[in-house]
Amino acid sequence: MTAILLDGKHVATLTEASMSERVNALRERSGGRTPVLATILVGDDPASATYVKMKGNACRRVGMESMAIELPASIKTNDLLRQIDELNHNPDVHGILLQHPVPAHIDERAAFDMISVDKDVDGVTCLGFGRMSMGESAYGCATPQGIMRLLEHYDIALSGKHAVVVGRSPILGKPMAMMMLQANATVTICHSRTQDLAQHIASADVIVGAVGRPEFIKADWIKDGAVVVDAGYHPGGVGDIELGPLQARAHALTPVPGGVGPMTINTLIQQTVQSGEKAIASGH
Ligand code: NAP
Repeated sequence: MTAILLDGKHVATLTEASMSERVNALRERSGGRTPVLATILVGDDPASATYVKMKGNACRRVGMESMAIELPASIKTNDLLRQIDELNHNPDVHGILLQHPVPAHIDERAAFDMISVDKDVDGVTCLGFGRMSMGESAYGCATPQGIMRLLEHYDIALSGKHAVVVGRSPILGKPMAMMMLQANATVTICHSRTQDLAQHIASADVIVGAVGRPEFIKADWIKDGAVVVDAGYHPGGVGDIELGPLQARAHALTPVPGGVGPMTINTLIQQTVQSGEKAIASGH
């Protein structure tokens, strides 16, 4: 068996082409308006700066605009909340991205939750998470939503399958598990206190690695024919799962790089386009 490659780069490129068309159509029918993503970068962490830049570039590739807001690392939580609220009330802004992580003295949860749910195109608010978990409309958290889109593109069925998600962070593991539950998978969530991790993983039809440790999940814990999703990315081009031996045993797997990563930014942009379409259609 050779695993089907869940090629996020390919799917992201395909979707960008259709998003460009949607942005053009919107521009034509609204007298020149396009969706706008506001990106907020707090401090000068080089990795965060690179991610924000990549997101701005992705906006430009589909003909959209981004508004880059750079704030000093010393900013206080209240001042950040005020900035976010201004963006909530700015009719020219359709999506707000607060780059994670913010400096430790800032209350990141309060900052995320300040984002209006209508502009929460990165899917980071508690309200958005709750709505999504209840099957109500909300923008999904970008990385797990990107994974769902990738699985859907390749017709990977989840209903009735046993999905094991390793990791329970608010931006990845938890929303991933709820999305898979919504898709009728039977979901197990594993974390740092889980006992017998390998045993849980051995029964997975679908395994999602979101641990943040290079090749932590071993190939021989995973059964033949499983669907393998690796959200990790580490120096040296490896993820959270030991993927090499799985090429010949898995039903499908996400390559690292080029699997989950490109789908994250693509999902953020897609949800901003959706938000822009909604707002502009309703006259805002
Ligand atoms: P995180 O916030 O550090 O969370 C890691 C999770 O792994 C935690 O829930 C933790 O459990 C769990 N964990 C740690 N050690 C474990 C162990 N020994 N056994 C079982 N579980 C363990 O990380 P994250 O932000 O979710 O990111 C996870 C991975 O995805 C990272 O590799 C990151 O680089 C990647 N990522 C990729 C993208 C993308 O766009 N491709 C986006 C975001 C993240 P506890 O909760 O018990 O501590």
